[in-house]
Amino acid sequence: MDNTQILIAGAGPVGMTLALALSRQGVKVRIVDKSPSRTDKSKALVMWPRTLELFDIEGCVKSFLDAGMQGRRVRIMSDGKTLLQANFDLAKSSFPYALMIPQSETERVLEEQLGSHGVHVERNTELQSFIDDGDAVTAKLLGQDGNVEEVRVAYLAGCDGAHSVVRKGIGAEFTGSAEPSGWILADLMLDGDVAPDEIVIIWTRHGVLAIFPIVGNRYRVIADVPADEGDVSVPLPLDRVQTVLDERGPGGLRAHDPFWLSRFRINERKVHDYTKGRCFLVGDAAHIHSPAGGQGMNTGMQDAFNLAWKIAMAVNGQAATKLLATYSQERSAIGDQVLRNASVLTHVATVGNPFLQKLRNVAVGALGDLSIVQQRLVDQLAELDLSYHHSDLGALHNSVAHRLPKGNRVPDVAVASQGAATRLYAVLRSGRFVLLTVGAEAAEVPAALQEWVIAASAVPGGAFEEGLVYLIRPDSYLVGSATAAGVPDLLGSLRPFTTSGFASPAP
Ligand SMILES: Cc1cc2nc3c(=O)[nH]c(=O)nc-3n(C[C@H](O)[C@H](O)[C@H](O)COP(=O)(O)OP(=O)(O)OC[C@H]3O[C@@H](n4cnc5c(N)ncnc54)[C@H](O)[C@@H]3O)c2cc1C
Repeated sequence: MDNTQILIAGAGPVGMTLALALSRQGVKVRIVDKSPSRTDKSKALVMWPRTLELFDIEGCVKSFLDAGMQGRRVRIMSDGKTLLQANFDLAKSSFPYALMIPQSETERVLEEQLGSHGVHVERNTELQSFIDDGDAVTAKLLGQDGNVEEVRVAYLAGCDGAHSVVRKGIGAEFTGSAEPSGWILADLMLDGDVAPDEIVIIWTRHGVLAIFPIVGNRYRVIADVPADEGDVSVPLPLDRVQTVLDERGPGGLRAHDPFWLSRFRINERKVHDYTKGRCFLVGDAAHIHSPAGGQGMNTGMQDAFNLAWKIAMAVNGQAATKLLATYSQERSAIGDQVLRNASVLTHVATVGNPFLQKLRNVAVGALGDLSIVQQRLVDQLAELDLSYHHSDLGALHNSVAHRLPKGNRVPDVAVASQGAATRLYAVLRSGRFVLLTVGAEAAEVPAALQEWVIAASAVPGGAFEEGLVYLIRPDSYLVGSATAAGVPDLLGSLRPFTTSGFASPAP
């Protein structure tokens, strides 16, 4: 084995996110991609608040913010009336907006960030096959020169997209189905009365039309079309897009200068187990679904963040296999939830029966005024409502906080740690758990745990209750909370996940 600890197959947005998060923790990675270059397509257009928060923990969110544009709200319309409008500033996050950034730009930023950590994507390099013998994974890589190189690594991450070689190699079934409808997608310039910072979804009797701002007059247009137009190999003419805009749009929109015209079909598929032995499936290799909700790439990146800190602890000899097992347990459940949500959004938008269309419009029009409905929609889109409450990590602990249940995402907050005023997410950048004491001096972390856990304190407020101590994972989800007297038990809940089981007992 050379000194590479993990081989990442696939340098799409998910593979590069994983490589970045691992290399930041000092893990030796190799990342290969069979294609000669990054995508030049706008594909995944939105980065949601939770993804931005996780890049904040990585320390590089600004590079994405500088390259994108802030989408302020989503509006659902029908017959010229607004049925529902939800402002993204309802997201209780430091990033209360949808960052509109074409996937080509996201990948550019990721590759630059990787370069700054001394990691370079090896392009024209294809993972052909691999064997996991239990002690390590031996992989065969086909290079541009036609030579096959054999590499031996501790772990293999399959970030190789919907047709994943890793998924096929571990024999994981990609269960699901393809939707019968066809879809068109256009990335082009639009003239006319269309908001520059708003996602507009228009439900019509002909079908749905969605318009996303990209930058300036550049927009993404998506619409469903009859199934007999669903052949993705047939080029999409610009005048078909114009017809759809005239038929379903607000009127007076003119499409021109396309960057990308495409057709697609919706596939909803997912594996059950994201892990087999030393191999992991991440991103589209593990789940694909409708673009409604724009969560494919975001969910994949969040898979990568979930896995990275666990792999880092494993290669440093700190984590037991039980910790790595939580990756599939946690992310497969989230994958199910995201698939369900995307499917509901798609089916509601594409109801064909005129009576059901009327019923839908009346119901959404009535509910759309309720602030609780708007809040739920924003939290779901922003992926701030995803929780690991079902995880084995923390399962043994009886959490006491009411406002922040265990498994929930922990918001960023001002803290003091190691004598300095800082932010929670900046402390999490260390790759360690944070033991956060609220309204008192930071609880002491026993020496045997200091490799794993760092202490901090915060003033009460928001999600944090006075007198409680919170144990927060490196990806800012809550393991559990306790009173000061319960801290040894809270820390002890980590014990089964460590290789040492903590040499000395918690205090
Ligand atoms: C038309 C379209 C519109 C979309 N719109 C949205 C949207 O609005 N919002 C959203 O969130 N998502 C959207 N998506 C989905 C989003 O693009 C994907 O979820 C995202 O690209 C997944 O990233 P990934 O890194 O997992 O996989 P990919 O981006 O597919 O990257 C996989 C990489 O692996 C490489 N590879 C494959 N096999 C091998 C091998 N054997 N060896 C080495 N390398 C290999 C490929 O070359 C590729 O670079 C859209 C997708 C499409 C096609």
